[in-house]
Amino acid sequence: MRGRFAPSPSGRMHLGNVACALLAWLSVRSQGGEMVLRIEDLDPDRCREEYALTLMEDLTWLGLTWDEGPYWQSRRRDLYEKALRALGKDVYPCFCTRAQLHAASAPHRGDGVFRYPGTCRNLTPKEIAEKAKTRAPALRWRAPDEDVLFCDKFRGPQRMNVQETFGDFLVRRSDGVHAYQLAVSVDDAAMGITEVVRGNDLLPSTPCQLLLIRALQGKAPVYGHVPLLVAPDGRRLSKRERDLDMGALRDRFSPAQLCGKLAYLLGLIDRPEPVPAKELIPLFPGADLHRDHLVVQDDMFLR
Ligand code: GLU
Repeated sequence: MRGRFAPSPSGRMHLGNVACALLAWLSVRSQGGEMVLRIEDLDPDRCREEYALTLMEDLTWLGLTWDEGPYWQSRRRDLYEKALRALGKDVYPCFCTRAQLHAASAPHRGDGVFRYPGTCRNLTPKEIAEKAKTRAPALRWRAPDEDVLFCDKFRGPQRMNVQETFGDFLVRRSDGVHAYQLAVSVDDAAMGITEVVRGNDLLPSTPCQLLLIRALQGKAPVYGHVPLLVAPDGRRLSKRERDLDMGALRDRFSPAQLCGKLAYLLGLIDRPEPVPAKELIPLFPGADLHRDHLVVQDDMFLR
């Protein structure tokens, strides 16, 4: 059994990231599995090595150990290129600008995700050559139009069609950066990951990854999506809220205090008392994680 931490080093870890990391770790440790650490640092505009180093220090401070890694996605680009070649003709260049994509995808879905309408799906070699003179293309994958069925470890049976949600999704951006869906699929398969525990904001991505892993003839992990932490008004706790990032949390709490409060929020213990992460391992199988959200009361992590 192998799980993973797959953080993006785009800032300090936040309470929400800590909750996901704790759950992924508890799941692995409660099954006697191995934990892999993979730093998802492909986007040079957002990721910094110093954030990754702080992140590892924060995980260590929490007592969330790993057995293998860190792997750095930025050093694995050859593997992603190889996967693109393996996908063959189902990968095609897309010359659409962001503005064109916005205009073409009305009505707006309101969640920041656009369904790609397939504009560049059937360009002729001549059209491609012509467009390539003025613009570097992104690459998209001709995703199968089928219902993908899978059973989420916490949320039960799921059925989703990638063509209805994303359309042909990006596998490489126009600036050459490999897309999240491609890199994560290649890596989870290559690293022999058998279980992915992560926030349920990534649930819609799971069918993309299952289809890619199948196309690349890899073995898919089991996925378990855990509730997101939200403020009492329903807003997601975001990285912008500085008072809940690891810097601020470490000023206020010991590792056992922070793990205890999270364990209480997650329903693992009855009172928010200090408990070191490793003492939570035997309690993990009792966690009730099928909900969409967990509400964090205003003052719960502020004192
Ligand atoms: N790197 C992604 C993030 O930090 C998570 C990827 C995953 O768990 O699949 O949001």
